[in-house]
Amino acid sequence: MRDSAAMAEILCLNAGSSSLKFALYAEPGTDEPSLLASGKIENIGLEPHLIARDAKGDVLAERRWTKDGTITHETLLEDLLREIEASVGDDLIAVGHRIVHGGTDYSAPARVDAPLLAALEALCPLAPLHQPHNLAAVRAVSRLRPAVLQVACFDTGFHHGQPPIATRLALPRALGEEGMRRYGFHGISYEYIARQLRSIDPDTGGGRTIAAHLGNGASLCAMAGGRSIDTTMGFTALDGLVMGTRCGALDPGAVLYLFQQRGMTAREVEHLLYSESGLLGVSGVSSDMRALLGSETPAAGEAIELFVWQIARQAGALASSLGGLDTFVFTAGIGENSPEIRARVAGRLGWLGVDLDADANLRGDAVISAPSSRVAVRVIPTDEERMIAIHTADLLREEPKA
Ligand code: AMP
Repeated sequence: MRDSAAMAEILCLNAGSSSLKFALYAEPGTDEPSLLASGKIENIGLEPHLIARDAKGDVLAERRWTKDGTITHETLLEDLLREIEASVGDDLIAVGHRIVHGGTDYSAPARVDAPLLAALEALCPLAPLHQPHNLAAVRAVSRLRPAVLQVACFDTGFHHGQPPIATRLALPRALGEEGMRRYGFHGISYEYIARQLRSIDPDTGGGRTIAAHLGNGASLCAMAGGRSIDTTMGFTALDGLVMGTRCGALDPGAVLYLFQQRGMTAREVEHLLYSESGLLGVSGVSSDMRALLGSETPAAGEAIELFVWQIARQAGALASSLGGLDTFVFTAGIGENSPEIRARVAGRLGWLGVDLDADANLRGDAVISAPSSRVAVRVIPTDEERMIAIHTADLLREEPKA
């Protein structure tokens, strides 16, 4: 048995269809959890590849599995738990999960029990690409390590306090009462960004802020004093910006056309909108921004231009929701790493008072706006796993001691 809370370890899991991201934290009981290791298993279903790094980024472990029908998400998770326990002993006391959808009822991080799991299962149709995989990891941990506390952190949670008008779909009211409304996603990332802004600027938390989470999935969030008031993703994570393989905001009539004129089935339309559209669909080259930036194909150039155009267009809408703009934050894979995309987005937001310092942008400084810029432009690396670890540690402290 553990004799000191100082030995506790928290594992954070972000389980997707073909990848499992993880991070292991030491939970000292008083202060913030500190990172011990992180990594991911990619290519699940084909030839899985695990890489784990320590807090400095040095490789701790790397492993490849050959294609084999017996390797499943669950066996990989079991291997991972075994590897972690081999290094930390029996000190793994909690697992925090990224859960894409908490629906209308769940916003704050919550201890997982059977009723919560059943309620979250019922939300799978609202996030068919993510929720089933998130919950499969929860169930697998329950089976493999039943004594470990599990905590669900919701990507929708941060947006719960939005004004009702920002969450309503203009559909018949009865459908709204059934749960058809705008929820918003990437909330764990935005919560982390809001937290960072508050520590940089305790007085206003960045004031009227647009945070741009630009990765494979992409969205914008309008935050007033660190609270979400509007966001580009809506009922599902398909809405809003152009993404790696997702279409973003689309005329609903286009969906009707696919059913009525092209005779497509619901499954085919789902696959088209989630997996064959966005940067991949428009470019015909790749869903990966790095590959597109390196491509000479005109369609790749157009896909990038559409990505930038939509960010600027929807940022304009969110600036209107906020009634002005004080801070613009770039985060996630593209936002943190691509000076070119940042410059092109900022170039379209000059009318809002955005003026970049080109050298600071190239260097990827924390502040990339010129001193004269009316809007402060920042690059803040997101850290969803840390946010999950913080919430899990908070719930651990609330647990009755054995
Ligand atoms: P994420 O989903 O946050 O891991 O982000 C993945 C996206 O970030 C992919 O489209 C990558 O191509 C993109 N990305 C990562 N590094 C860079 C970079 N240096 N320049 C442009 N895009 C990048």
